[in-house]
Amino acid sequence: MSKITKVIARQVFDSRGTPTVEVEIFSNKISASSICPSGASTGSYEAHEKRDKFNKKYLGKSVLNTVKLINTKISKKIKNQNLHNQEKIDDLLINLDGTQQKKNLGANAILPISIAVKKLSCKIKKIPLYKGFLVKKNFKIPYPLMNIINGGAHSNNGLRIQEFMIRPDKAKSMSDALRMCFLVINNLKKIIIKKGYSTSVGDEGGFAPMINSNEEALKLIVQSIKRSGFKNGRDISICLDVAANELFRNKKYSIHSKKYISASKTIKKYNILINKFKIKSLEDPFNENDWLSWNQFMKSNYKKIQIVGDDLYVTNIRRLKMGFLSNSSNSILIKLNQIGTITETLKVIKYAQLIGFNYIISHRSGDSEDTFISDFAVGTNSNQIKTGSLTRSERVAKYNQLLRIEESLGKYSKMNNIK
Ligand code: PEP
Ligand code: MG
Repeated sequence: MSKITKVIARQVFDSRGTPTVEVEIFSNKISASSICPSGASTGSYEAHEKRDKFNKKYLGKSVLNTVKLINTKISKKIKNQNLHNQEKIDDLLINLDGTQQKKNLGANAILPISIAVKKLSCKIKKIPLYKGFLVKKNFKIPYPLMNIINGGAHSNNGLRIQEFMIRPDKAKSMSDALRMCFLVINNLKKIIIKKGYSTSVGDEGGFAPMINSNEEALKLIVQSIKRSGFKNGRDISICLDVAANELFRNKKYSIHSKKYISASKTIKKYNILINKFKIKSLEDPFNENDWLSWNQFMKSNYKKIQIVGDDLYVTNIRRLKMGFLSNSSNSILIKLNQIGTITETLKVIKYAQLIGFNYIISHRSGDSEDTFISDFAVGTNSNQIKTGSLTRSERVAKYNQLLRIEESLGKYSKMNNIK
């Protein structure tokens, strides 16, 4: 048994320059730490993120009260616990909070503790982090869902769809996958420059040119895939995260233009885009409460594409069960801070495995140098990971960690299967 001997929380900054919580857990002189990520387009059923609303020094965004809470009340509760008993520690935190959406402590107090505990437990056991989860042998590498154009809440360019991503389906390894994405990104950059647009990037590292038409963004991507010597829909697939919560009002959607139109017209326009640009994955095409539209879309598209619930499920097993029973999607995005602990996240993943859903491990738009999700994706046998573009160190750090894992697996390393 190794005991937790000390817990230190501190305020640090995330990739948007916003304060966030870092927690360092000690067992005698050995320690491990974790930094909490933060979303911009959040679902209303997500676990709460606590900030010091009334502290004007940081415009209401500091997390100093949370840091204090961890360093006092929470620290007392978990000190002397067996570090290797993740479930017990997570349960203590869940019970100390006592609410369904972590309203008392906040998921940003709980999650960095949960992750730091797991990291330290693996460090003390002297096993790589990816070996500390569900998979015990035959580790596989997830395909990157790489965001190369940013819109929506992640930039201010007027693009309505939030994330335009590519997935290098024909990649034979992570290094091959990254090389393919690297080529497309560099060709996209040349095309964007030639068109006279800015090559500045958005929150997740994808380009954020001042264009406001989804079709124009998709055409730029198709062109760059072609210029890189690949075939769209065969070697590389285009995947989208609409983040439709942000584009929903009075039961209507403004996804395809500024005009709000009915869900059925929105579906028709989705189908046109899917066929024209060979789109293989669509995340959050509808609002988190619009189960009917999810079901309607699913009925005609479930065999054709990956339909991913992010804000719809918020990594919550109750919502995933609702979605499964109402035939709403065939895949789920997994974000640990939407629920708050590793234990709860693993329960959601096991349920997703049971019902045959794809589960995609994801970063948040506000992220950090913490690369936990790379190990977590391999250790849970996730076939895809969504962690931004091949720019901005907080995104690249995750890909670099996957390269290290691939190297450590050596000749046993294999890409996962995409279904
Ligand atoms: C997403 O919506 O999938 C995403 C990663 O963005 P955010 O973290 O802003 O929710
Ligand atoms: Mg999303």
